[in-house]
Amino acid sequence: MFDFDMLGLKPSLSKALKENGFTEPTPIQNQAIPLALEGHDIMGLAQTGTGKTLAFGLPLLEHLLGLHGKPEPKTARALILAPTRELVNQIAESLRVFTQKTPIKVATVVGGQSIGRQISTLAKGIDILVATPGRLIDLMDRKAIRLDTVQHLVLDEADQMLDLGFIHALRKIAPQLGTPRQTMLFSATMPKQMEELSQAYLNNPKKVQVSPPGKAADKITQSVRFMSKPEKGDALRKILSQDPEALVLVFGRTKHGCEKLMKSLVADGFNAASIHGNKSQGQRDRAIKAFRDGAVKILVATDVAARGIDIPGVSYVINYELPDTPDNYVHRIGRTARAGREGEAIALVSAEEVDLLKDIEKLMKISIPVAYGERPAPVKVEKPSRGGGRRRSSGGGGGGGGGGGGHRNRSAKPANADGKPRRPRRNRRRKPAA
Ligand code: ADP
Ligand code: MG
Repeated sequence: MFDFDMLGLKPSLSKALKENGFTEPTPIQNQAIPLALEGHDIMGLAQTGTGKTLAFGLPLLEHLLGLHGKPEPKTARALILAPTRELVNQIAESLRVFTQKTPIKVATVVGGQSIGRQISTLAKGIDILVATPGRLIDLMDRKAIRLDTVQHLVLDEADQMLDLGFIHALRKIAPQLGTPRQTMLFSATMPKQMEELSQAYLNNPKKVQVSPPGKAADKITQSVRFMSKPEKGDALRKILSQDPEALVLVFGRTKHGCEKLMKSLVADGFNAASIHGNKSQGQRDRAIKAFRDGAVKILVATDVAARGIDIPGVSYVINYELPDTPDNYVHRIGRTARAGREGEAIALVSAEEVDLLKDIEKLMKISIPVAYGERPAPVKVEKPSRGGGRRRSSGGGGGGGGGGGGHRNRSAKPANADGKPRRPRRNRRRKPAA
């Protein structure tokens, strides 16, 4: 059996770990920590909920605790980039558990909060800066922070940052960082772009991997239920009613759809809240806190809003609608069965989504057990009419709040239903979260 003492951490850290109930390192921690302590660049691949935060966090703390003196004003010694505000806050909280009784200063920089306060925090100099890329660039532009003293760079949930225009942001940030430095990249999945990212920013990295990319935590029981779109509202209510005390995370595709679904659930007496890009930071924080505390039992979320958030007691993840990209399915269901607990992931799948399901099963190399209905023949996805917005015959669905817009065109398809070549959709690059 391993314990943290064997990994070469300072006694004060080992002690703090024990006091906080961390007795044994997780497999990714076991592999990454000794290599990171030796100063290697790290490419860490592990499914969600496997303890990646401490896998990079503990070596960082170990190194910083060994330094003398204070960071200079407007500088940082370590920079952790993460895709969303929630995740940034969560990483900072996880690290602060260990810095409370030390001089190490951890600060966060995220969008949606007063930049003036962030500027004055940075003015004092920071040991560990946790940031979303967008706000960090903003602060760099304002000369509130310079990064040439940064000796450690961590890219957390790197796969999730890829589609948030992150590569672009990183091109701006990376040249400003100090050299030599240690760079650690952590990710749950390994899309092709990650290899490029690794080649561009990591120096001779040690690769640590605890299970094949795309594999969900073993303790998650997955199932699919086939039904028509209008049936989903009732099916969801039935599942929610069966276990009213459980924390349930429900995923929808669009902000609007999630909001509508949440409101219809609340109208039916369910204890639900929502998080998505249309909510203010304060609203998102409050909803997540209420959910974490169990004051709210059902959280309806979009992918972006729920990325990486760690809420230990989630029993069910319900895919009310399947995500556009199969990687996101892995991320969604990774929100349950955190740290070895059990969890259940249920997908409600209509004929329009059968192709998406196929992609997911291909990625995960499994066939997800069917708990209800029969796999329908795939239905060609309707093209949204050109000028007329994205109106759909949503048919009501018993107030179930259809999840908003029709399916996005999937670029792999060569032609539309009418046989004409598909016009490539503009690459709708979103800005980095911040
Ligand atoms: P990931 O980033 O891989 O998705 P996190 O770092 O967010 O995972 O950790 C998931 C959960 O596991 C957190 O609640 C964390 O406190 C817990 N955890 C991390 N390391 C350990 C450990 N060694 N022993 C027990 N629980 C742990
Ligand atoms: Mg993480």
